[in-house]
Amino acid sequence: MNRRFFIKNAGMVTAILSAMPAGLAGCCNRVQEKLMLMRYDTEWWGEPDEMAGFLEKLAEVHRKDEIPVTMFCRGFTLENMRSEFTAFHQETAEDPLFDMQDHSYSHIGLGYERGKPVDILKEDYELSFRTHSEVFGRRPSGISMCGTGDDGPSLSGFDATEKSRAEFEMVVKLGTRMINSFLTGIDGSREFINYEILGHPEVMGFISGYSDTAWMDRKEYGDPLEYMLKEIHTRSEQNEHMPVMFHDWVAWQKAPDKELTHVRRIAETGRKLGYTLVTHMDCYNNKPLWQKAENLMSWFPVQTSRE
Ligand SMILES: [Zn+2]
Repeated sequence: MNRRFFIKNAGMVTAILSAMPAGLAGCCNRVQEKLMLMRYDTEWWGEPDEMAGFLEKLAEVHRKDEIPVTMFCRGFTLENMRSEFTAFHQETAEDPLFDMQDHSYSHIGLGYERGKPVDILKEDYELSFRTHSEVFGRRPSGISMCGTGDDGPSLSGFDATEKSRAEFEMVVKLGTRMINSFLTGIDGSREFINYEILGHPEVMGFISGYSDTAWMDRKEYGDPLEYMLKEIHTRSEQNEHMPVMFHDWVAWQKAPDKELTHVRRIAETGRKLGYTLVTHMDCYNNKPLWQKAENLMSWFPVQTSRE
């Protein structure tokens, strides 16, 4: 059975659930297609030499194992490694396994208590989107939010303050149609949402979590792969979606090998447990997944969902 069939099927299952009367659907909320979203926040800021071979290996591995992936790329990184990304684009542009999206130009923070003024944020994202156009021939439609250390505490959501609402409005005006699920009371690591509450039902919020900066780089949970496989099992038992956040520099410089073995094992384990592997664009195109009328509130503790 191929991937496309699964995706189509995932949409149908969700559509059936959405069409049920509220009470009936409520009893079956946990029977859903389990999606695994693997992404790389692609943000290397140092010498391009230190990432030499990464993009070629990534294309090779993800194709060989048919692992869909979204690359959220910083504009700065695209400029810094322009020839490498141009070559990567020529190789992968027609392949739906690879979804190229944005991670700001300078790794600037959205949704923080302090944060930069909205016009500075806008300049940063405009510059990044322009760089995407130059290198990939198209503007991105998705953003993964950057984690920063100098903007004060992260807010509870884009709905939290007037400034964060203005930040959200700004990225939507630039053409953003998918961004982290970031609203007060929503568990951003578990729930796909739409932003109707902020006047934009056409914008999808996607699940985000399990950053390799924590489990691979800082080894916060012991053996990195053991930890991740255990988490996939737990989520699978709970019939929940699974986000996985790699970073270009962690995967290439901090992993035990340069064959992306850990990426392959995570994908393989997910598949064995019944997960359908998808890109963020696949999720966006699966409208019933995130266009449901109400956003279900979560009873799980909220996990930090960005880095
Ligand atoms: Zn980042």
